[in-house]
Amino acid sequence: MFALLLAAAALAAEMQADLHLDTPTQLYRKKLGLDAAGLEAGLTQLNEGGTNLAVMVLWPPRDSSWEAHVETLLATMEQEDARLDAVTLARSPEEARAIAVRGGVALIYSLEGAHGIDKSGVEGLRALHARGLALLGLTWSFSNRFAGSSGDDGGGLTADGRTLVADAQRLGVLIDLSHASKATTLDVCGTSKVPVLASHSDAAAVKAHARNLTDEEIACIAATGGVVGLNLHSTFLGTPAGVQKAADHVEHLRDVGGIGVVALGTDFDGLIKPPPDLLTSSHIGLLWAELRRRGWTEPAIQAVRGENFLRAWWVARSLAG
Ligand SMILES: [Zn+2]
Repeated sequence: MFALLLAAAALAAEMQADLHLDTPTQLYRKKLGLDAAGLEAGLTQLNEGGTNLAVMVLWPPRDSSWEAHVETLLATMEQEDARLDAVTLARSPEEARAIAVRGGVALIYSLEGAHGIDKSGVEGLRALHARGLALLGLTWSFSNRFAGSSGDDGGGLTADGRTLVADAQRLGVLIDLSHASKATTLDVCGTSKVPVLASHSDAAAVKAHARNLTDEEIACIAATGGVVGLNLHSTFLGTPAGVQKAADHVEHLRDVGGIGVVALGTDFDGLIKPPPDLLTSSHIGLLWAELRRRGWTEPAIQAVRGENFLRAWWVARSLAG
């Protein structure tokens, strides 16, 4: 009985998920390990700030050979996973919890833009999924053959995009609508039968910006059971950027989409300009403290920290196939 109680306590380990970390790009550019100094979301900062589920982003820059670059970033992360006991690839929410219970950081992968599988299409998607891809961003800052981007307002989802979304959802891969045009976002979430995400976007009603989500988009994502990850880029937060403004976005997301829609997707190591009081992953606890000061309950904070994302991921995987 005592062992069972211990097991129950361990399963209740507090999860904190960050849905968008560009750390792989910094490791590649600066030739660093995940345990090196000088990162916004390296192993030290993740541990200090309590993040135990890290979505590591495979970002193919516009001027790169896209598919080769994705392979390079993924291989870099796989080397770190093999080298460091403290990080482990998680293929499911259950695995992520088990890794967190052991005191480790669970890693999952996200492709930031379907241009990263421009040539290989669904075969490329399957190959990445086999290596741990859990999130698929339809676009980055420019439209591609699958979908329109908010960066150039290139329309909505294309016929190729519809096929890709269906293929991804059959694999249990979550569709990520950050960077997508409004038309793409509403096309996808208006028809999706599984949760969809915007991993690193803020609320346009708090700070007007093409990368932020209108209330219509937030409500649409919430209706799928999906989540919106709070981005900590000062430009998206608005003035003065800081923990107060971040909490304002969180409360707006909650007011529009309900508590179940709010998550965290900081964009650390993605060349963002972080607020002066939230400079790295180490400082995330200040946001939870601010929500507590505003009267948020612990279960509500826990939902934002990790449980909302884990629920969305679990549902998407459960309804896959
Ligand atoms: Zn981005």
